[in-house]
Amino acid sequence: ENKTDIAEFVTLHHSSGRVFENVPTGLFINNEFVPSKSGKKFDTIDPNTGNVIMSVYEADASDVNVAVEAAKKGFEQWSKISPRERSDLLYKLAELIYRDREILAGIEAYDNGKPYSQFVVLMDEYMIQALGADLNFVVEHFKYFAGAADKLNHGRHIDIREGVHAYTRPEPYGVVGQIVPWNFPLLMLTWKIAPALAAGNAVVLKTSEKTPLSALKLAQLIVEAGFPPGVVNFLSGFGPSAGDAIARHPDIHKVSFTGSTATGRKILAASAESNLKKVSLELGGKSPNVVFNDAKLDEAILACRVGYSFNQGQVCCAGTRVFVQEGIYDEFIARLKEDAAKIKVGNSFDADTDVGPLVDKLQFDRVLSYVEEGKKAGAHLEFGGHRIGTEGYYVSPTIFSNVHEDMKIVKEEIFGPVIVIDKFSTLEDGIAKANNTEFGLAASVHTTNVSTYVRAANGIQAGTIWVNTHNQLYAGIPFGGYKLSGHGRDGGYEALQEYTQLKSVYVALV
Ligand code: NAD
Repeated sequence: ENKTDIAEFVTLHHSSGRVFENVPTGLFINNEFVPSKSGKKFDTIDPNTGNVIMSVYEADASDVNVAVEAAKKGFEQWSKISPRERSDLLYKLAELIYRDREILAGIEAYDNGKPYSQFVVLMDEYMIQALGADLNFVVEHFKYFAGAADKLNHGRHIDIREGVHAYTRPEPYGVVGQIVPWNFPLLMLTWKIAPALAAGNAVVLKTSEKTPLSALKLAQLIVEAGFPPGVVNFLSGFGPSAGDAIARHPDIHKVSFTGSTATGRKILAASAESNLKKVSLELGGKSPNVVFNDAKLDEAILACRVGYSFNQGQVCCAGTRVFVQEGIYDEFIARLKEDAAKIKVGNSFDADTDVGPLVDKLQFDRVLSYVEEGKKAGAHLEFGGHRIGTEGYYVSPTIFSNVHEDMKIVKEEIFGPVIVIDKFSTLEDGIAKANNTEFGLAASVHTTNVSTYVRAANGIQAGTIWVNTHNQLYAGIPFGGYKLSGHGRDGGYEALQEYTQLKSVYVALV
């Protein structure tokens, strides 16, 4: 059934390029699409072919200033609207996204290379696995935070003594700055704007220069839903110019960033050098996948596959370091290789594609250079490690064994469908190996023994632990890192707290 949907979509939109017919190219400021001050534009490409899809206006610091001014006015409007009405607008937006899911998925598949089928599979079901993630999550997120908008915890009330009452009051920051990466363009944007708006802020968000298009389509839905002008502003543009200007802007008092650890450091430095704005950072990872002798193997193999191949491995919480207990090590590698051979790498619009192209040439070259680096360092290439096809940026699922903790492929985030496998002996050894990284975003543990899972889940230093699964996410559960994976949380009530500052009020009853 799904295959027919995709075939229809491709006939309708793919060959004709009609999916982009109504996608605006301007900066989205004040509910309008406007050219950048400089008039400069940049191209965005289809990673299936390397061809330019279209070009969009490029924001720089002066456009950030305009957007912040619009957002300041937008915030005034937004503050006059009751939380109940804000909730309605967020819910309406979720419904419009659901209505236009095919077009949004199509745009995202072109611009990022994600398999289109993974957007629509499970769209009408509740999430069971991470596949089919993006649009499900986007809709779920907007609905969750629509529900949260009028349920902000209005703090504590205390009668301190006779005649003196005190209470706390969470307040929005006003204009919030947000900067997102390219690996889940719509989803990362949603993780940022849904809680920020629910908490009563206006936003200026910069999309990634690699994937600006889905946000521009979403912007049309924001207007259609009826959001007041200036409440949401999207800027297409580059990090060192527009991104840095957001991070330094004196009228932005909170910035939320998702991206690499290297850029996260720059955002924090920009805050320190400007107005000390509050910063939350969702950064990179090198998440372990720890498989114990007593694990159910079919489930562990599936979780492992999802962990390294979902979204072409371009996932911050990808399970890229796999540690297998000695008793099942040989069998596990053999099974994992069999499984890898079944993964279909191909065009984003083929119905049976599991893994599409990497986002662009830069990422493609980077991933293949890590593979070369691994081979040179003496790791054993068990599977893949090469390009697929002659055009587009397709890389085979790749498995390395015989690795050492000092190797770059073991230490650094590769952001492609590449894993390294190593052995461990005892529970303590497994936990120690899992923790032998600068990162701490997520981890998964595979075992049927309750004590093993509890000890491992407690012992591994990471913001999210999955037991017998990988990459599961839910809007109501917070997500964020330990160690170099950042601080602050997206999702859940904690995300609302990220976007509010707390005031304490003392009242003397005179
Ligand atoms: P990146 O750091 O290169 O870019 C992220 C964003 O920051 C982009 O919009 C970019 O334009 C902007 N940027 C770049 N330099 C900047 C600067 N000096 N000042 C301000 N903004 C700047 O990361 P990427 O390559 O787009 O994304 C991949 C990274 O994102 C990976 O490390 C991945 O792990 C991470 N990521 C983390 C999470 C999470 O929730 N922890 C989720 C998705 C992706």
